[in-house]
Amino acid sequence: MSKKTEFNITVFPGDGIGPEVVQEALKILRIIESKLGLKISINEAPVGGAGYEATGHPLPDASLELARNADAVLLGAVGGPKWENIDFSLRPERALLGLRSSLGLYANLRPARIFPALVDASTLKREVVEGLDLLVVRELTGGIYFGEPRGVDTLEDGTRRGFNTLVYSEPEIIRIARIAFDVARKRNKSVCSVDKANVLESTGFWREVVTDLHSSYSDVELSHMYVDNCAMQLVRNPKQFDVILTTNMFGDILSDEASMLTGSIGMLPSASLGEKHAMYEPIHGSAPDIAGQELANPLATILSVGMMFKYSLDREEPNEWIESAVESVLGQGVRTADIMSDGMKQVGTKEMGDLIAEELEKRNVA
Ligand code: NAD
Repeated sequence: MSKKTEFNITVFPGDGIGPEVVQEALKILRIIESKLGLKISINEAPVGGAGYEATGHPLPDASLELARNADAVLLGAVGGPKWENIDFSLRPERALLGLRSSLGLYANLRPARIFPALVDASTLKREVVEGLDLLVVRELTGGIYFGEPRGVDTLEDGTRRGFNTLVYSEPEIIRIARIAFDVARKRNKSVCSVDKANVLESTGFWREVVTDLHSSYSDVELSHMYVDNCAMQLVRNPKQFDVILTTNMFGDILSDEASMLTGSIGMLPSASLGEKHAMYEPIHGSAPDIAGQELANPLATILSVGMMFKYSLDREEPNEWIESAVESVLGQGVRTADIMSDGMKQVGTKEMGDLIAEELEKRNVA
């Protein structure tokens, strides 16, 4: 069967540096579109603070509708001091939760890969991180962040208490574990499932279900690790990992830890996947402190476009082209301010985008 060649992408530039980095990412998307002879329609819409300004809500109905009808969503970032004092339910960040739950984005994929030229930007020693290439697969719509009952109440004796529920159903575990095994097949075929099975029954169940499912993925190696040990191993010997599969809360913490191994927040892309929808975004926020100053690093968003081609548009090569273009531009000693070091040449957001675009233009397509 021939591959689909026409796509609809919804783009939410958002706030702060969001529009700046998205603009560079779209430049790259257009180059790949033309190289592969695709037809990509782009619909831009406001979310976050921009959505609030336009309609009084951070996730306007029309924006959500566009996301629902798209093959994929590309998001810059949301938030900023301007909206810090408005009602919690209308804060820009609520748009993210709304998008995740409305689009059923239950799997969050965060690669932590170190580019050779940036090895010395890591806080860890060169030998610990050189060659690092791992992927955290975090469950995103279940577990303790969503479990019921939850709240704060008062017992009969007047003692106040707060409580949350850590609950995972078998289908929820199976669908996220499938994603981890499937992506591992395209990588180094190794999954480490992270839990706290020695203390929490719900994650003991998680371990049991993942182990059962593994019988359908005998070509992939499966190991299990307790979360406290994993947090330690990530700084001791992170290269032992290929794919880390874990729950919502453990993944929240471990993926931030893993991302910092690579140096800068401005370098890291992410994908959030569901049965029908997918959203791609840099892991950083709207960085209001540097917005509008040509200081933002656009590479995380550009790399997110690579993930979009890989996971939503059924094209593997653009992700490799983008990664190798980034590697080659960094290898020439070009840096944005956040990754700047002695002897390197500092460029602005737009110039970095232009340089990656030039590199990509040089790549031949078979
Ligand atoms: P942040 O990620 O925006 O910034 C943290 C630090 O990293 C800042 O010093 C910033 O200048 C720097 N930085 C971030 N991205 C960069 C880039 N691409 N290039 C160079 N430097 C970069 O986090 P924050 O300051 O805690 O939050 C700012 C706003 O963003 C808040 O309103 C927060 O709620 C929001 N936020 C949004 C998202 C999202 O949209 N997904 C994620 C996190 C935070």
